[in-house]
Amino acid sequence: MSLEDHAEDLASDLGVDKEEVKRDLENLVNYSVPMDEAKQSLRRKYGGGSSSGGDGTPSSKAISEVTTGDSNVTVTAVVLTSGRRSIQYNGEQHVIREGELADETGKISYTAWDGFSGDLEPGQTVRLGNAGVREWDGKPELNLGDSTQPEVVDETLAIDYEVGGRASLSDLEPGDRGITVEVQVLECEQKVIDGRDGETTILSGVLGDESGRLPFTDWEPHGEIEVGASVRIEESFVREFRGAPSVNVSEFSTVTALDRTVEVAEDAPRISVHEAVDSGGLFDVELVGNVIEVRDGSGLIERCPECGRVIQNGQCRSHGTVEGEDDLRTKAILDDGTGTVTVVLGDELTAAVYGGDIDDAREHARNAMDKEVVAERIADRIVGREYVVRGSLSVDEYGANLTASTFAEADDDPATRAETLLREAEA
Ligand SMILES: [Zn+2]
Repeated sequence: MSLEDHAEDLASDLGVDKEEVKRDLENLVNYSVPMDEAKQSLRRKYGGGSSSGGDGTPSSKAISEVTTGDSNVTVTAVVLTSGRRSIQYNGEQHVIREGELADETGKISYTAWDGFSGDLEPGQTVRLGNAGVREWDGKPELNLGDSTQPEVVDETLAIDYEVGGRASLSDLEPGDRGITVEVQVLECEQKVIDGRDGETTILSGVLGDESGRLPFTDWEPHGEIEVGASVRIEESFVREFRGAPSVNVSEFSTVTALDRTVEVAEDAPRISVHEAVDSGGLFDVELVGNVIEVRDGSGLIERCPECGRVIQNGQCRSHGTVEGEDDLRTKAILDDGTGTVTVVLGDELTAAVYGGDIDDAREHARNAMDKEVVAERIADRIVGREYVVRGSLSVDEYGANLTASTFAEADDDPATRAETLLREAEA
């Protein structure tokens, strides 16, 4: 049977316009939906003939057809992920559920507000009648509330996505919800913050797996999260922190100790400066390039004792006249031919490239009666040389800054370099 014949069949069955059905059918088939499922989906859309229209229920749509121009739709989809989150509005605590749904044509994010009466278990196929559509980040998202009619349906959809939120750290993106990761806790410290109900203790640190490292925050400290532990974290969500994804663990997350050790990648991925800047931010990355300039604000600098900001002439932008505290810092521009970033070296790395600690720098500046000599010596030593830098990259309106954890001169031995290239080529 041709598509034309299928369309004709369906149109007469449903009592609707054949051209319209044919267009929809073509659309679904273009998304590689098998013909039988495409027809089933259209039967749903057009209400299966007898019970169609008139009751105020918005028309059924395939997920790929939902646009930000829709106000309400009805979709039938498989729940991919589901994560709870506690938020506050109008002075009250609300638990919302967030995740993704998929059908044969695509996937879409959803938020279920506390009036929503459905379950949304990952793997379930649900029909959501009268789901609201809102725009989020330029894309449509489903808003499920008390006027949404949920119904679990006994139907298998041929979806292209995996059910459940199991992910590697390198796959995570801000906005991901209901995520499960298996990681090793690499760094972890307690912090006291001003929370909604006064002071609260949270955990923050770094997680690692075979794919990379990411920072995390545990808003409801779980005892299993401690340095060196390998754990499975279920129902976490991902937010952006300084331009890079950060794993958030909440009171709804389940943390289980694993009886195996999760291996952690030793090296940070080495990519071009252009690619790194393009990514919008990376927690752990390695760049190689030439230092072409040491920027102002390098060498022996002064910080505000209140907020730690770098100050000029004893004036802090927030705290006025303050007694500054000396510190060492380097801001170096690194260029690899594809782009530039500002590499920021803290006191220890700066002391290493300067060849002396903060007392040496003070004495040096006193003798010369000029603070700039410190930055000048640093520039003499690093400008024009090639470095391998590992650290955390943030990209914002102030530019691309890489806070370095290591800063080493590139190996100039051609034999070693050839070997490294060979290894990379084999990898
Ligand atoms: Zn200040």
